[in-house]
Amino acid sequence: MANSSDSGTDCHKASIMQFDRAADIMELDGELRQWLNTSFRELSVRIPVRMDDGNVRVFSGYRVQHSNVRGPHKGGLRYHPSVSLEDVRGLAAWMTWKCALLDLPLGGAKGGITCNPKEMSLAEQERMTREYIHGIGDLIGPTKDIPAPDINTNARIMGWIMDEYSKRQGYSPGVVTGKPLELGGSPGREDATGKGVSIIVGRWAEKENRPLHQISAAVQGFGNVGYHTALHLSRLGCRIVAVSDSTAGIINEDGLDIQAAGRHKKNSGSLSGFAGGETVDQGEVLTCKCDYLIPAALQTVIHGGNLEKLQTRVIFEAANGPVCPYTEPLLLERGITVLPDILVNGGGVSVSYFEWVQNIQHFQWKDEIIQMELQAIMHRAFDKVIALADERNISYRIAAYILAIDKVVRAGHLRGIYQSQS
Ligand code: NAD
Repeated sequence: MANSSDSGTDCHKASIMQFDRAADIMELDGELRQWLNTSFRELSVRIPVRMDDGNVRVFSGYRVQHSNVRGPHKGGLRYHPSVSLEDVRGLAAWMTWKCALLDLPLGGAKGGITCNPKEMSLAEQERMTREYIHGIGDLIGPTKDIPAPDINTNARIMGWIMDEYSKRQGYSPGVVTGKPLELGGSPGREDATGKGVSIIVGRWAEKENRPLHQISAAVQGFGNVGYHTALHLSRLGCRIVAVSDSTAGIINEDGLDIQAAGRHKKNSGSLSGFAGGETVDQGEVLTCKCDYLIPAALQTVIHGGNLEKLQTRVIFEAANGPVCPYTEPLLLERGITVLPDILVNGGGVSVSYFEWVQNIQHFQWKDEIIQMELQAIMHRAFDKVIALADERNISYRIAAYILAIDKVVRAGHLRGIYQSQS
């Protein structure tokens, strides 16, 4: 996806580059950097699956646990052909920093299977998921590591995980979040990441002193995060001028009807053919004219190859790692603001945290409480990041990392896991 100058920028490399920029300013010593920059545990598993045609295919799966210093490991499970150990490793580290920044008592992890679920039946996906849980089962659990949905995984798959784990360990809804409501899922989890993005966008618009109805936004990706982000923002009055998925981009300068686009995607399986705007190549959505650009699909989609073409003022990273770390300084030089993923997309893990707490309590909270607590967490983290960045004249990403790293280091010292020599 990146051009040649960014080639090889996997999530792990990106997470290390971002970490190092903050660590330099914090003057962290080498030992501490090594402790914070490496995974606690990495597991690769072989996943043999009997396909519907009778043949057996063997998939590769991963679970990487980056840190459990502040609480059990926590992080999504991704099904995608591009999943690699390097990406999962970086995504796991980002979860540690995200949970610390948001002040959730959780650590960081991530999982993935290299597969194309779009070419698999539901039954094949179920067998693959159960076999994967068989492979990583010893590592996960409500006090150890708690998976959640990510790209191409959803509530149904989380339900299978809960079932497979519970068969071995006894009824354990707290082993996974993002479950169906009937299996201990939480009100508000389905759209939590998009809701959280819209809260951050709203807070930023407030800071700019611009009402949302004067703002145009383009959203790349029309899955869980992209769709709910676009929907919530359009309900708040924001004009969504472009959306895209893996099949098409749709542009309408007057504003798209997001609910209609969502219905089209639900019925036909893709945005392709949606008549509510002009159909363009997906890439054009990233470079269309808009106040706010919200990448909500894959990593490294904003890179040296499209930097010059961007026509936005602010990028909100709803996906994990959409801005290439080599390109970020050039964006800032061009006066384009970047609000980092570990802040912007934190709504999902926040409501996952609420779900886990409800599961442990065996008590369901009301949606109003969840929405109130979600808003409080997002506002608090946003305000801290903005204040530190303004005070020290550093980027929002570096400010977010400094706040997060500081929390993990303090917890490490207090637990005695990492003893400072000084
Ligand atoms: P999803 O599978 O529900 O949706 C992904 C979307 O991206 C799909 O609409 C797909 O068509 C689209 N897409 C893929 N390639 C594209 C391309 N080249 N151009 C345009 N669109 C493309 O996944 P999701 O859960 O929405 O996750 C999206 C991102 O948000 C990921 O980076 C994920 O790690 C991150 N994230 C997700 C959550 C969550 O709660 N699901 C939480 C935090 C962060």
